[in-house]
Amino acid sequence: MIYLDHHATTPVDPEVVAAMLPWLTTDFGNPHSRTHSIGRRAAQACDEAMDELAAMIGGESSSIVVTSGATESNNLALDGFARHPRQRRRHIITSAAEHPAVLDPLRRLERDGFRVTVLPVARQGGDRCGTIDLGQLGEALSDDTAIVSIMWANNEIGTIEQITEIAALAHGVGAVFHTDATQALGRLPLNVAAADIDLLSGSAHKFYGPKGIGFLYVNAARRRVRLRPLLEGGGQQRGLRSGTLNTPGLIGMATALRVALRDRENEQDRQQRLRDDLWQRLAEAFPGIELNGPPLRGDIRLAGNLNVSLADIEGETLMVASPEVAISSGAACSSVDPRPSHVLTAIGLSESRARRSLRFGLGRMTESGQVESTIGHLAAGRKKVLGH
Ligand code: PMP
Repeated sequence: MIYLDHHATTPVDPEVVAAMLPWLTTDFGNPHSRTHSIGRRAAQACDEAMDELAAMIGGESSSIVVTSGATESNNLALDGFARHPRQRRRHIITSAAEHPAVLDPLRRLERDGFRVTVLPVARQGGDRCGTIDLGQLGEALSDDTAIVSIMWANNEIGTIEQITEIAALAHGVGAVFHTDATQALGRLPLNVAAADIDLLSGSAHKFYGPKGIGFLYVNAARRRVRLRPLLEGGGQQRGLRSGTLNTPGLIGMATALRVALRDRENEQDRQQRLRDDLWQRLAEAFPGIELNGPPLRGDIRLAGNLNVSLADIEGETLMVASPEVAISSGAACSSVDPRPSHVLTAIGLSESRARRSLRFGLGRMTESGQVESTIGHLAAGRKKVLGH
């Protein structure tokens, strides 16, 4: 099996597993049990892991809220900020290319009386395809805008947004800025202080950590971002997220980000070369194939991302005919949804072209031999279906 679906999830790095193990077995204490050393040891490890996570993204100590993943982080950021009892502003801005974990909570806020502007994204063909237009953002902003939420990097077409400029525009009207950095963490240089980010969501399983654990960075020091918690209970994590901390998950998440950042640049360069090679070979093997999303350049597109449309076969059909290759045709989270990808239609692709799309996500385990075999398997799969 060739795994080229690293936007959906990544395997847990062996170093991460090793770091987690003691916290599952010998050091199993509840980090909120302060009455004995087993609990206090876990508490100290959790505090250190949260501080390290904060430092690795350029944040201050105590700026991390541990969650179950980016879905919860996005919900906490948007719902929590908009519904805080002292929140007077009623307008929210986002983009049409966001993940459903942003778009769906915003739809619910809209039903509850908030005004939500969904900015269009630049269409297929241009350099900044898939990104919002800063002029349109400027026009949409007003002194009623509470929060702007724009993803750092897109999970389908890999588009990288102009995060620093967007944050500055939001701050210009006194709004806060949230970014879903799920696909960017561990892959792109990222610093919340330099970019002046107020809220940032991440999920460990996208950077070779375990599933079911993520975090929300909250800039409470500089801009006093107040959140209403989603969960009520024991009041853990300063009341922002009740529930016993997942010690092994948290240790695993901090270790995973440390490992990812250690060799980030070389690894991204390597993936970019493999991705470019994959595109070249696909273009030779599949006449009429088209590239979806921005040009294959490191500053505007994630190195490991490739999204294409074939001329004569639907993505779903080809995937069934080529079971040796694990890829996707849109977001894995919506593979139960038969509609074509909302991101591909947002950049102006027809429904037919969107259905003929395939998403490749290269990762740390991807090797050049796999690129070659992938072409062979997909070409054989296409031949099986079409007979030529
Ligand atoms: N945001 C983006 C951009 C994602 O790619 C994903 C995962 N598909 C999520 C949010 C949700 O992450 P999780 O499943 O870990 O909650």
